[in-house]
Amino acid sequence: MTSSICEEIICGESSMKTNTLKILCVGRICLDIVQMCIQFPSEDSTQRSIEYRWQRGGNASNTCTVLSLIGQPCELLACLSADEHINFLQNDLRKYKIDYSHCRMINGIGCPVSTIILSLDTGSRTIVHHCDLPELTLKNFEQLNLEEYSWIHFEGRNVDVVLLMIQRIDNYNNSLNFTRATKNRIPITISVELESPRSGSGLLNLLPYIDVAFIAKEFAEYLGFSNMNEVIHNIGQDSKGAIICAWSEEGAIARTPCGSIVQSPAFPPRKVIDTLGAGDTFNAAALYYLNKNKIEFMYKYKEEATCMNDNQTKDTSDNNTTVKRDIKENLGTGSSGYNRAKFINDIVLQQTIRFACCIAGAKVGLKGYDCLD
Ligand code: ADP
Repeated sequence: MTSSICEEIICGESSMKTNTLKILCVGRICLDIVQMCIQFPSEDSTQRSIEYRWQRGGNASNTCTVLSLIGQPCELLACLSADEHINFLQNDLRKYKIDYSHCRMINGIGCPVSTIILSLDTGSRTIVHHCDLPELTLKNFEQLNLEEYSWIHFEGRNVDVVLLMIQRIDNYNNSLNFTRATKNRIPITISVELESPRSGSGLLNLLPYIDVAFIAKEFAEYLGFSNMNEVIHNIGQDSKGAIICAWSEEGAIARTPCGSIVQSPAFPPRKVIDTLGAGDTFNAAALYYLNKNKIEFMYKYKEEATCMNDNQTKDTSDNNTTVKRDIKENLGTGSSGYNRAKFINDIVLQQTIRFACCIAGAKVGLKGYDCLD
């Protein structure tokens, strides 16, 4: 970790309860072929790159890399092509301790590939992507044991199927009742990144069903917004969750479920070297920080909920009823609606985006992700 601000935040957390539940990232894994050039080449020219590397890529896969480097147990759910690149990708997932045991293996269709040109001159990353793999299905998602996760993050794509997956998570959350028998289970928080213009404005249909939405600059620009302030004042006004919007060197802005708006500047390195995956890094750091706060919040209430369940028949006072109602609202259980994002107040959200900008700023100042190690 290169920045003292990051160190301050992480060291201050050493007394935290250890979190063994995983964050699951649902989306893509691909092969990145990265060429670093002094300048972006002109069309129809030949140019030598100064460096060349292959790496594991894809939004969900990158987010897992960073989560793992920060120390968060995580899992990737994606389609994996069983072609000649499979060993490279699987070895790298293992190297970074990313669980990929539920990935759907596909025979006969090649691995998705991104050809990426990095410009040292401007720090830009230009991506040409190819993918023939099918999308994940609900059946793939149903293989998971939801008790293993505290948070599930989706790449915004395949909207109809993602909505079914979200429905399954909701059913699971609503089934929790906080007795001793279910002591180690907590409701799963749901987040989605809206990034790809290719998926169209239909991605906005996910907003009413999720707890945290990441609105990427690329998607916001596709919708016609030209700055992050416009985004935060215009997207997801009816959503019950938090909205987070990162905007390159301008940092990030976010809105709590209650409507408070918070902001963080970027933390630029001395020289921008590699902005590839800056957004995935930002998302991972934000997920880590929010999940940590959620776990603390949940356990505080869960202790009370479990004790009360044990004493249920003895204590029928008004006070007990009120606490129970608060617990239900805060933990998001029961069939009468919920607000799982209630733990995300303005202080938590401000710290979250500051932490995420700090980690993403460190990442863009060095090659790849190892600066976060
Ligand atoms: P994406 O990879 O989706 O294009 P962004 O460019 O919006 O992501 O960047 C995400 C975050 O990474 C920003 O909020 C910022 O904190 C950090 N970041 C990106 N580019 C820079 C930069 N040039 N200088 C400092 N921080 C940056």
